[in-house]
Amino acid sequence: MNFELTPDQLAIRNHVSDLLKEVCPPEYAAKCDEEQTPPRAAFDALAKNGWLGIIGPEEYGGSGGGATELAILLGEVGYHFEELGMWVFRNLSYGCFAVLEHGTKEQIESIVPRVIRGELSFCFGLTEPDSGSDASALRTKATLEGDHYIINGRKVYTSGMDISDYCLLVTRTSTLEKKQQGITNFLVDTKLNGIEVKKLQTLGQRAIGTTEVLYSDARVPANMVLGQVGEGWKGADAYLCYERLCLSAARTGAARAAFDFALEHAKTRQQFGRPIGKFQAISHKFADMKTMLDVSETMIYRYAWLMENKRATRQDAAILKLYTSESYKAISDMCLQVLGGYGYCMEYPMQRFFRDSRLATIGAGTSEIQRNIIASSLGL
Ligand SMILES: Cc1cc2nc3c(=O)[nH]c(=O)nc-3n(C[C@H](O)[C@H](O)[C@H](O)COP(=O)(O)OP(=O)(O)OC[C@H]3O[C@@H](n4cnc5c(N)ncnc54)[C@H](O)[C@@H]3O)c2cc1C
Repeated sequence: MNFELTPDQLAIRNHVSDLLKEVCPPEYAAKCDEEQTPPRAAFDALAKNGWLGIIGPEEYGGSGGGATELAILLGEVGYHFEELGMWVFRNLSYGCFAVLEHGTKEQIESIVPRVIRGELSFCFGLTEPDSGSDASALRTKATLEGDHYIINGRKVYTSGMDISDYCLLVTRTSTLEKKQQGITNFLVDTKLNGIEVKKLQTLGQRAIGTTEVLYSDARVPANMVLGQVGEGWKGADAYLCYERLCLSAARTGAARAAFDFALEHAKTRQQFGRPIGKFQAISHKFADMKTMLDVSETMIYRYAWLMENKRATRQDAAILKLYTSESYKAISDMCLQVLGGYGYCMEYPMQRFFRDSRLATIGAGTSEIQRNIIASSLGL
């Protein structure tokens, strides 16, 4: 395992950083959050500069990078604006990775090049009102009628559905003995008749946010099944493991941004005649945070290496998700404390890190569920 980034990989970080300094400065991220508008201009700039093709094969216009390149990109995007990172990750995870893994030739050729060019956006519809942590207990039903499936059900927390062209939708096509059986995934055109989308108001992640979606007799062509009918859970589980790398990278990038902001404050804010960072109570927070950031980054590159070498397990993904999420939550909390009253004011960015980070230990599998996965892999 080699943790040293190559010159090409370091160049990715530098190029993305330079671009985002220009198109996604802190005031832009703050405005998107405040006005609840997606960071479209920054997203388009990433697409125009080829970054949405980072994992796409060259024949479809991508640059053929692996999990490490993906982690570098998302780390840098997350540093500048976490929600931009979420938008990029959804497109790369569902519009590229999932379609490339399980799509037909027609699906790949009609979708992947357009995702790479930034012309199509993707979201993921798994969670339902009665199936959150118990995700495979989902009930949204897809019934075959001729050459279409008729979809009925309700999804919650489908993030970015209102700005997406396709939703990778997880449905039930039959009820069998095990709840993980009889699940089928679809690439659903979000503008179909019979789909109603309602934006949800949330504590954080407010620029793009999340939605509730009602499917009432939505007719999806049978050729939009992704993978095998009835075998969708294996796919969904693989997408979730991929998602755990993407989320960990983007959120550790955001944690690093909060850390840098608070460090600057600790060096300049004077109380009792000295910078507050000179008080041990403050400086030790930075020592703890730096340790968490370094461990998180090491774990991210380790996991990327395991993925590239086809050795990543569900346990590895759960350990990564658990540690990086809890670290981000702890870091944003400590940084807010370091800023004192400024941390609590809406005109400073720290409150956004604090609000956004709260989702890390909830979304894409809670910390409790990650602990369950790790414990069960130990035979407990
Ligand atoms: C802002 C936001 C964006 C999201 N985006 C998406 C998205 O794009 N697509 C999507 O499909 N989903 C999305 N989700 C859903 C997210 O993945 C779920 O919220 C999460 O999996 C938890 O499910 P739940 O909210 O129903 O909580 P519940 O499952 O009801 O859990 C409530 C509490 O009970 C605990 N708990 C439950 N079961 C166990 C157990 N067996 N052992 C120990 N503790 C347990 C949980 O850890 C949690 O603390 C999003 C959620 C939010 C809030």
